[in-house]
Amino acid sequence: MIIPKKDKLSKTELKQVEDIASASACSILEIQGRNRCVYAILGDETQEVMFKRIAGLSFIRKVDRIESPYKLMDRRSALSDHRVKVGKVEVGKDCPFIIAGPCTIDPANQSLFLETAHALKEAGVNGLRGGVWKPRTTPYSYQGDNKSLEIILKAREETGLPIDIEVMDSDQLKLALEAKVDVLQVGTRNALNYSLLKEIGKLSAGSNASVLLKRGRHVASPNEFIAAAEYIVAEGNPNVMLCPRGTTPTLDGYRNQPDESISPLLKSKTWAPVVVDPSHSVGHSEYVMACSLSAIAYGADGLCIESHIDPAKGIGDDPKQAVKPGRIREIVETAGLLWSNRFQAAN
Ligand code: PEP
Ligand code: MN
Repeated sequence: MIIPKKDKLSKTELKQVEDIASASACSILEIQGRNRCVYAILGDETQEVMFKRIAGLSFIRKVDRIESPYKLMDRRSALSDHRVKVGKVEVGKDCPFIIAGPCTIDPANQSLFLETAHALKEAGVNGLRGGVWKPRTTPYSYQGDNKSLEIILKAREETGLPIDIEVMDSDQLKLALEAKVDVLQVGTRNALNYSLLKEIGKLSAGSNASVLLKRGRHVASPNEFIAAAEYIVAEGNPNVMLCPRGTTPTLDGYRNQPDESISPLLKSKTWAPVVVDPSHSVGHSEYVMACSLSAIAYGADGLCIESHIDPAKGIGDDPKQAVKPGRIREIVETAGLLWSNRFQAAN
């Protein structure tokens, strides 16, 4: 990883670095952070001669050699002071970052989504979620509808809140980027779909879109989870949030095996914010509050929660696991208090 003295290398400087790298069969990737650019060396970056030549250039501050399976996501990388912003809010700065909304937007009943969106804005959330295209276990279940994209865009316009939708393929990704969706969600089923992760990183590089990467439900280790996020960052988009959402095998009685407790492990390894999804983790609305607070107590930076103004009328997961906006308000308030106490306790 190369860190220049100035915020960015000029074209001639970059060319000099690229020439040195290519002489050692490596290439250089420019990564635009919020305030400055850093440059990753792709290939065998341990090569001594290349390392010394680049480090010796007058315009280079330092060249880091991090022995890590995820050199950009690593806490010690040049991106360690990178902060992820969604809309105007820096994730994990002053209070828990909370996204909420229905599992699935019902295209035949847009007022349910719009009313939910307004109630959530009142409840104090930082962003709205809503499934436009849905990854479903069987092909006979409802799969989603492009019309729902228009509905969530309308909700953004009316509430001013940033929006989060899941994308599962290139076409959906392109539509979401055209619509300037604020958060691109990668679901648990695609959490290790490396081609999709690369494409998301590449097409969203330099845009304002962040990526909420769910943990694969079969993903065993925090390292594998962080390495999946590395695919997005290594293609040029460092605005990644990690989202534990429960794993398998399921804890009998819950939807998955709750895993909010990995938040501090992730945070010790990477600079990326952790935004826990309690809804898919426990899978029952009555346990969502406890799981949310547990996540914040464990050090998570935020939450992504399923919420619906009338869960019984919802489609997808909503009848079972969505909480009403009133409950979200309680979570916003209680998680906020817990957050301040957590910082007092740490100081
Ligand atoms: C969702 O957020 O509605 C969803 C399908 O999540 P996951 O990919 O975590 O199952
Ligand atoms: Mn869902």
